[in-house]
Amino acid sequence: MQNQRRTDTGPELALRRELHHRGLRYRLHVPIVDARRCHDIVFASAKVVVEVRGCFWHSCPEHRSSPKANATWWADKLAAKRRRDKDTARRFGKAGWSLVVVWEHEDPSVAADRVQRLVDHRS
Ligand SMILES: [Zn+2]
Repeated sequence: MQNQRRTDTGPELALRRELHHRGLRYRLHVPIVDARRCHDIVFASAKVVVEVRGCFWHSCPEHRSSPKANATWWADKLAAKRRRDKDTARRFGKAGWSLVVVWEHEDPSVAADRVQRLVDHRS
């Protein structure tokens, strides 16, 4: 499962470009709370981690939907994903990290504002 991650998706690249443009320097694909899971964009000294999440797979509040075919299977699968996301957020919190969730539908510059504010605040 953890090896299936999509790397360098369009929304993630757009956000990274925006952050880089602002002079924010991050590391890519670093494992933090779980050695088997890497994270998208990591600001190590500020202890801020950014996850760019796909609207469908992570059930974003605006675009959540569940396919009609194999409805039960999909509902279970998407619910498991949401549980895992919640668990990840809890583990970050416990370890003293701040998690910024960015949805793939978000404007990269609006998302970058959010990340920048938090990184500045915690640096
Ligand atoms: Zn969405």
